Amino acid sequence: MIPDSAAPAKAARLGRLGIEGAFAVAAAARALEESGREVIHLELGQPDFPSPQHAIAAGVGALEADDAKYTAPAGIPELRNAILGYARGRGIPAELGNVVVTSAAKPMLQYALLAAVNPGDEVLIPSPGFPIYPSAVRLAGGIERTYAIASTRDGWQLDWDSIERQLTPRTRAIVLNSPHNPTGWTATSDDLARIAWIAVERNLWVISDEIYSGLAYDYADGASPSAAAVPGMLDRTIIIDGFSKRWSMTGWRLGFGIVPAALYDDIVALVINNTSCTPPFIQRGGLAAMEGSQDVVHALRQSLHERRDRFVSGLNSVPGITCALPSGAFYAFADVQPLLAASRLDTDAFAARLLQDHGVAGCPGTDFGPTGEGFVRFSFATAAPKLDRAIELLQAAAKRFGKT
Ligand code: PMP
Repeated sequence: MIPDSAAPAKAARLGRLGIEGAFAVAAAARALEESGREVIHLELGQPDFPSPQHAIAAGVGALEADDAKYTAPAGIPELRNAILGYARGRGIPAELGNVVVTSAAKPMLQYALLAAVNPGDEVLIPSPGFPIYPSAVRLAGGIERTYAIASTRDGWQLDWDSIERQLTPRTRAIVLNSPHNPTGWTATSDDLARIAWIAVERNLWVISDEIYSGLAYDYADGASPSAAAVPGMLDRTIIIDGFSKRWSMTGWRLGFGIVPAALYDDIVALVINNTSCTPPFIQRGGLAAMEGSQDVVHALRQSLHERRDRFVSGLNSVPGITCALPSGAFYAFADVQPLLAASRLDTDAFAARLLQDHGVAGCPGTDFGPTGEGFVRFSFATAAPKLDRAIELLQAAAKRFGKT
């Protein structure tokens, strides 16, 4: 008989891991729905469009042809070439030796930090920001320092003073995210040139999460500028991108990196250590999505643009809620502070009440760091009638919570 004993202690690094609150909100929303309640899902960051038909056909065809064996760790040459063409189309002076295919954007983020950061190095990340940034920095042994994306009269802006304040001799990298989750802030070419100056002056890596590129509403074709397109920046910029958002393929788990040539072998080694390769039939689907008709991409962007205008003006019609127009991505980061003050609820409790009592699922701003206090993030990547219904429900909530 094996004697009774306590299991070994968990590794300390687990205590430094964060998660994405949106998945917890989604689980709570589903549970409520299963109990028969109406719920409008505005919590997860995924477009409601189906995957492009030609991507599905190519993926299924490849699977039927048994294109389901190990393949090249860096990605199949056809897809790497397509990504190269795509990157060059964005003004990035990349070569094939800069392109790595990964199993979605998130692993590429982990690889970037593992490749760039030594234990004790400091990494600047945006706040509010994607919750996986602090988690991934810590997993790599780094220390996160936050800079602000701040609300101004002109909408969301990068707070340059906060960057200057957080830079130290130990800063090793800066994480950029444009268009930005959760605010929709989108860096201009001037912003990126300024980041480039700082990066060169301080000798920093720039880790640029461009998963929402192509979804910038002030640019022709949605084409937000890339950090790696700034002259001289390719060798210190690690681009994280993928098929999840623009091609509406979140569940395929297909992404890519445009990485400095000097890091290429190391990033491929990280892929080999983690997944060996990205499934080939998935890559075939991505290749078709990228090279086939872009009608779905254009329709998605057009639709998101209309939904943004409709939903944000709806939010601003609700007493106690204000929302700056997001210039990219598909989130409305709504200021609900007057409703918190009147109801004496904190942000988490307020978002929970919105779901439980009013059937609107959004993410508390605190999921994106402490500066998200007073805000709720709503994804507007859902059909207009549902967005209209959410506004009706929020009107009712505001009537109730707004009473002082
Ligand atoms: N970066 C940001 C800023 C995101 O919002 C997301 C998805 N919510 C990701 C990366 C992850 O993308 P993927 O699903 O391709 O891993």
